[in-house]
Amino acid sequence: MLKLTHKASGRHFLQIPGPTNVPDRVLRAMDNPTIDHRGPEFQTIGRKVLADIRRVFQTEGPVVIYGASGTGAWEAALVNTLSPGDAVLMYETGHFAALWKKMSQRLGLVPEFLPGDWRQGIDAQLIAARLSEDKQHKIKAVCIVHNETSTGVTADVAAVRGAIDGARHPALLMVDTISSLASIDYRHGEWGVDVTVAGSQKGLMLPPGLSFNALSEKAIAASRSAKLTKAYWAWDEILEANKNGFWPYTPPTNLIYGLSAACDMLLEEGLANVFARHQRFAEATRRAVRAWGLEIFCANPAAFSSSLTAVLLPEGHDADKYRKVVLDHFDMSLGTGLAKLAGKVFRIGHLGDFNDLTLMGTLAGVEMGLSLAGIPHNKGGVAAAMDYLVGHTAS
Ligand SMILES: *Cc1c(COP(=O)(O)O)cnc(C)c1O
Repeated sequence: MLKLTHKASGRHFLQIPGPTNVPDRVLRAMDNPTIDHRGPEFQTIGRKVLADIRRVFQTEGPVVIYGASGTGAWEAALVNTLSPGDAVLMYETGHFAALWKKMSQRLGLVPEFLPGDWRQGIDAQLIAARLSEDKQHKIKAVCIVHNETSTGVTADVAAVRGAIDGARHPALLMVDTISSLASIDYRHGEWGVDVTVAGSQKGLMLPPGLSFNALSEKAIAASRSAKLTKAYWAWDEILEANKNGFWPYTPPTNLIYGLSAACDMLLEEGLANVFARHQRFAEATRRAVRAWGLEIFCANPAAFSSSLTAVLLPEGHDADKYRKVVLDHFDMSLGTGLAKLAGKVFRIGHLGDFNDLTLMGTLAGVEMGLSLAGIPHNKGGVAAAMDYLVGHTAS
C-alpha cells in the first residue's frame, strides 16, 4: 500500500490550482470494476459522457477525449490542424503560454509571440493589428490561454474572436481552457473557437489523466489537409469510433466513470451557478489579500481569475519558504511561483469542489502562515472574506 506522507490528522488542503480536490462522488464512481471497453455497458457510458461533455464546453460539436495530460491535448490541437512551417500567433500571458509556444517550435511550427508583462492579460487590439498586417494570411492559427494559471489573469476570448473577424483573417482560434473549464464561463460554440484544449484535474474535479479537444467544423476541415505527423492524436479515427460510444483503443475506463459523475455534478448544479460560485470565492479571496495589505499579482481587474489568485510577497520574502511553513504547520499545499515568478508569488487555488468553509479554512491557513513566516501584513483578511461571504450568500 502506497504510504502518503499525511502526518497530520484531518484532511489535507490541496489548494494548488490543479490538481484540485476530487469529490467523494467522483472517487466512488471510479471505484467500480473495469469492464470491457468494447462491450454494451461501456458503450452506454461512452455515449452519455460524450454528450454531457459537450454541454460543459457549451458546444453542439464533437469533443475528443484523450487519455493524456493537458499537454497532450495542446499537441493534439496543433498536429491535427497545422502543417510544418506554419506561422502561429501566440500571446505571452505567462508560463503556460510560453510552454505551448515552445511545443509549437518543437513540432516544426513558427510561432510569433506577442509580448506581454504577465499582469495585464491579452490586448485584443494587438492581435487585430498583427492580423491586419498579415495580408497573405501566413498566420494559420491564433493560440491563447483563457486562464493563465501561473498568474491568475484571464483573457476575453470573445474579444479575440472579434479581433480575428474584424481583420477578416481566416486563422483558426485555439484556446487553452485547462484551468478555466467548469470554473469560469466558457462558450466554445458561441465564441466561435475552433479548438478548445482542456484537462481533467482542475475545474472538472477529476484526477489527472484525461484531456480534451472541442472542435469546430472549420477545425475538422483543416484536419483533413494538415500535414504535421499525427497518429495517436489523430481526430479522424477517434471521431469515427465515438459515433458509437467507443474509442479506437482502450480508453481510461475508470476515469471515464469519474468524468460521468463530474459532469452530473456540474450539470445538476447548473453551469451558471458553478461560475457564480467560483466568482464569489475569488472575490472573497481578493478582499482577504487586500486586507492583509498584500498585492494581487493580476493588475487588471477586468482580467481577475475565478480559479486562482496569485499573491505577491513583499521584497525580501521568499514565497516558497512561506509555502513550506504553511505545508508543515497546516498540511495545506499552495501553488508555487512558476518561471520568473519563482519565490515571488504564491497561488491560492479556489476552483473545483469547493464551499464556503473550504475557502475559509484555506484563507485561515494563509493568514496564520503569514504570521508564522514573519511576513509583514495586517490582520483581518479572514474577517474581510467572511464579511463578504455572509453579505453575498449563495442562493
Ligand atoms: C495545468 C495547465 C497546463 C498543463 O496541463 P498538464 O495536465 O500539466 O499537462 C497547461 N495550461 C494551463 C493553462 C494549465 O493550467
